[in-house]
Amino acid sequence: MSDSYQLYYKNDKQQKSFQVLESLVSTRSNFTISPVFNEFKCDVYVLFDNPQSNIIAIDWDNTFTVHPKFYNKLIYAYLEAGFKPIICTLRGSDAEDVHEICELMDAGDVEICPTSGEHKRSYIKQKKGMNINLWIDDFFPGIADCDCDLMLKNGILV
Ligand SMILES: [Mg+2]
Repeated sequence: MSDSYQLYYKNDKQQKSFQVLESLVSTRSNFTISPVFNEFKCDVYVLFDNPQSNIIAIDWDNTFTVHPKFYNKLIYAYLEAGFKPIICTLRGSDAEDVHEICELMDAGDVEICPTSGEHKRSYIKQKKGMNINLWIDDFFPGIADCDCDLMLKNGILV
């Protein structure tokens, strides 16, 4: 694994949810945020969705698991700033999977939402009745269809 870690964000930099992330990223010399969409360079995608929501959906596999210390800190930073971070994963809801996630996380009161392979955005909306402010995920096609409004407004054109 390479030392550098690149996050993609191409949206409103004045959003509080982005600024919480940006401020933590600025403490890491090897982390950068880039507005350039490049699937070969971007390690994780930060997609701004619904400004009315205070929920931050963080992916598990190949997102949280790559830098658990960073993501634990990020979760605390969001809690402190009044946001509600959740873990949203394509994993199944069986106990073993969810237990493994709980063990690696510092903050105990973070909801874990396994979608069992369903698109995350529609699952969260339909099954949980929630909208998401910010998605943080290494695999954006797992969030929603690649030609939907979310991808377009975040500059993802595939
Ligand atoms: Mg992932």
